[in-house]
Amino acid sequence: MFERGFVGGDLYLEGAFKTMNLYTDQGKIAAISGERLPCRETVDCRGLKVLPGFIDPHVHFALNLGEFTSADDFESGSISGAFGGVTTFIDFLDPVLEAEAFHEKLAQRKLFAQASRVDYSFHTTLGHFSGDVQPLINASLAAGLTSVKVFTTYSESRRDCPKPVIEALLRSPLTVLSHTEKDDLVDPDWLETATYEASRPVKSETLEALALADLVEKTGGSLYMVHTSAGSTVKALEEHYGHLLGRQFFLETCPQYLHLNRDCFKGKEGPLYLLAPPLRSPGEQALLKDRFSSIYSIGTDHCPFMRAEKLRYPEASKVPKGIGGIEYSFLLLYELFGDEVIDRFTSHPATLFHLKHKGALRVGMDADLNLLDPQGTTLAGRGHSKSDYSPYEGKNLKGRIRATYLRGEPLVIGDRLYPSQGNFLRRRLD
Ligand SMILES: [Zn+2]
Repeated sequence: MFERGFVGGDLYLEGAFKTMNLYTDQGKIAAISGERLPCRETVDCRGLKVLPGFIDPHVHFALNLGEFTSADDFESGSISGAFGGVTTFIDFLDPVLEAEAFHEKLAQRKLFAQASRVDYSFHTTLGHFSGDVQPLINASLAAGLTSVKVFTTYSESRRDCPKPVIEALLRSPLTVLSHTEKDDLVDPDWLETATYEASRPVKSETLEALALADLVEKTGGSLYMVHTSAGSTVKALEEHYGHLLGRQFFLETCPQYLHLNRDCFKGKEGPLYLLAPPLRSPGEQALLKDRFSSIYSIGTDHCPFMRAEKLRYPEASKVPKGIGGIEYSFLLLYELFGDEVIDRFTSHPATLFHLKHKGALRVGMDADLNLLDPQGTTLAGRGHSKSDYSPYEGKNLKGRIRATYLRGEPLVIGDRLYPSQGNFLRRRLD
C-alpha cells in the first residue's frame, strides 16, 4: 500500500507528458503506472500537469552587505519559493579568501539555513583568493559542495578572483559559477540611477564571457555563467563558442532580464530596480528572448531589499543592488515560453549541480512535485517575501500552481502552507 497516489494527471516524464498515476512512499517516488494501485490517500490530478519540484540554483537569503541585509532570511525566502513551486535552492557561502576559512563560512550559512522550509545546498564562493587553491577544492568537495562561484569584477571590494585561480578551478572537478563582467569596463562609483546601465555596459559582459569561454576551451572545464543579462552576449557566445554551450559552458538568465528593461531605472522609483548586472535596453531584452534556446537554466538571483532601503540614498553607487523574484519565477518564464522552460527549472540544474534525487519524475527520486493548472491564472502580488514591494506586482500570468509537495508531503496546497523542514543536500560527483 502506497502512501499517496497522484492520479489522472499529465506527468512530465523525460521531456514529454503522459497521463499516468504516480505513487509515493517514505518521501520517494515509489511507482509510476497506468494502473490504479492501492494507496492511503488519493490526489485527483485530472486536468493538471504534474512536474518535478523546481530548483532555484541562485538565491541570496540573509545576505549581509554591511549596512544592508537582504530582506528575506532562509525562512521567508524558502516560504516565498515554496509558493512558487521551488522545493530546492542553492545559496552561497560568503567569499572565502583563504582555504582555512572554508569550514567556518560553511558552518555560518548552515546555521542560518536550518530555518529553511525546503531543501538546499550552497555554492562555495571565492573572493580575491591568493595561494594554492587545491586545499579549498578538496574541502569543498568533501563537504558536498561541487560548485564554486567567482567574480571577475568587484576589485574595489576584493571579490575579483585572479584568472590563474579561475583556471585552476576549471581544471578541477568543480563546476565554476561566474559573475561575468570585465572589471575595467565597470564603474562602481556611478551616481545616476537613470543612466546606471551605462556604468556596466553590455560589452563588459560580452567580452568577459568570451574570455571565460576561451579558458573553458583551453582547460576542458565546466562553467556556469550566472545572470546573463544581454542578448548580445548569448549571440556572441553562439557565434564563437557554440560548440561549448550546454556542454561545458552553461548559461543562466533570470526573469528580470526577460520581463524588465532599463526604462525601469528612470523616475523616482528607479532605485527600486537597481541590480547588477543592470537591466538592459528593450532591444537587448528582445534579443535575449530570441536566443532563449541557448539558455540552460533559470536562477532568480533573489536578493530583495526593503523599499526604504533602496530609496535611502540618491547615489546609485550606495543603493543595495538586487531584487526579489523567487515566488513568480516559474510562471514569469512559463508565460513567455510555455513547457520549454520546465527542464530549465528541474533536470538541468539537478544534473549540473549534482542534485541526484531531484529534478525528475522517476522511481527512487525524492517525491518533490508541483501540480500545475495550465488553464488557471495567477495575479502576481508581493507574495510571501518580507520585502514590501515586488517588481512584478500586478502582472497577470498564465498558469497556476495548485499544490506543491516536498518529499511526498504537502508543502503548499492552495493558499495554505504546511509545516516542513528543509534538508541540507550533500552533493557528490558521479
Ligand atoms: Zn547573485
